[in-house]
Amino acid sequence: MEWSRGHTIGHGSSATVSIATRREGCRVFAAKSSELCNSESLQREQRILSSLCSPYVVNFKGSDITMENNKLYYNLFMEYMPFGTLSSEINRHGGRLDEAKIKTYTRQIVQGLEYIHSKGLVHCDIKCSNILIGTEGAKIGDLGCAKSVVDPRISGTPMLMAPEAVRGEDQGCASDIWSLGCTIIEMAKGEAAWPNLLDPFCVLYHIAYSGEVPEIPWFLSEEGKDFLGKCLRWNPEERCTATQLLNHPFLNSKVESNSTSPTSILEHGFWSCVEEGSHTTRTTSLGDLPPDRVRMLGLCSEESCWASWNDDGNWITIRGNECDSWGEGVFRNFGSETASSSNGGLDLKELVESNVSGRIWSKQ
Ligand code: ATP
Repeated sequence: MEWSRGHTIGHGSSATVSIATRREGCRVFAAKSSELCNSESLQREQRILSSLCSPYVVNFKGSDITMENNKLYYNLFMEYMPFGTLSSEINRHGGRLDEAKIKTYTRQIVQGLEYIHSKGLVHCDIKCSNILIGTEGAKIGDLGCAKSVVDPRISGTPMLMAPEAVRGEDQGCASDIWSLGCTIIEMAKGEAAWPNLLDPFCVLYHIAYSGEVPEIPWFLSEEGKDFLGKCLRWNPEERCTATQLLNHPFLNSKVESNSTSPTSILEHGFWSCVEEGSHTTRTTSLGDLPPDRVRMLGLCSEESCWASWNDDGNWITIRGNECDSWGEGVFRNFGSETASSSNGGLDLKELVESNVSGRIWSKQ
């Protein structure tokens, strides 16, 4: 397939996403790219995404390898979602969504989750910035952390991880349901389910061992609160499945009127050990991550961690065969800054004891 790369539309910790057009027919799609030598995660995502087909999961459109600026890039093609992420949708609506919108998006996310779980897979990184919005609503994107339910690996965004996943015990379908609960809270309040805190290790320790769940927004309808309560059960066995959630009245009723707006943030008396600070949303995998590595990642600014190239708005022409073929052609002179992290892990206890703070998350 011959295609042209357009401007950058998003950066992740592991890849850069550009708008792209197919020369023939001028069809627009999204190309998620990373250097071939660092593309293990993207290739895993390709394998998983190419096995899925649902109106609630971003559509796979192919993949190839291209040579750009004397470097090989692996490209994963997906349908282009013109309205960006659910996070940007929240921003567009003044920082929080009303309950009618929350219902609509939640229903679509749960339908996507039901499908993914029916395939024996766990998404592992459900959060607002991984839900993409198109003309027909929300679809689940970024399957870079997705895995088989029997795969013992644990990965995702720590602040949205279920307690059992933070403890490194298990990350199954029920863990996605917990993350869904955190995502709904973010839609409702426009802020993280767990408060913004400077010391993420206190938060992780709290999530893992306190037995508490995030506070459910008081201004939601009773049905909404009940729905959230069924997602945010401490014990994963007590959480509803996606199929059960689809039958919950919250997803099958209309909202009477606009919900009351919250005027204050959470009361969190138990957070005495922590201070307010920036919210951590990067991705990690749990395992053995030495504290030095954590400090290094903590110092790493978002910009310097991203696989990035200059966005001068120019389009380039790339030729390649569809699906995993080698490309050839005319390429733009890309910047070469790439600092994607190697596979790493995070040992919660070790991190808490080492009292390391800052942004520490690394993409698996
Ligand atoms: P993360 O660090 O969260 O793991 P990642 O490297 O896996 O990120 P994605 O989250 O898949 O990358 O994509 C990064 C950004 O690119 C998204 O937040 C979104 O803004 C944009 N994006 C990704 N896929 C699409 C798409 N299909 N259509 C439009 N925009 C997209």
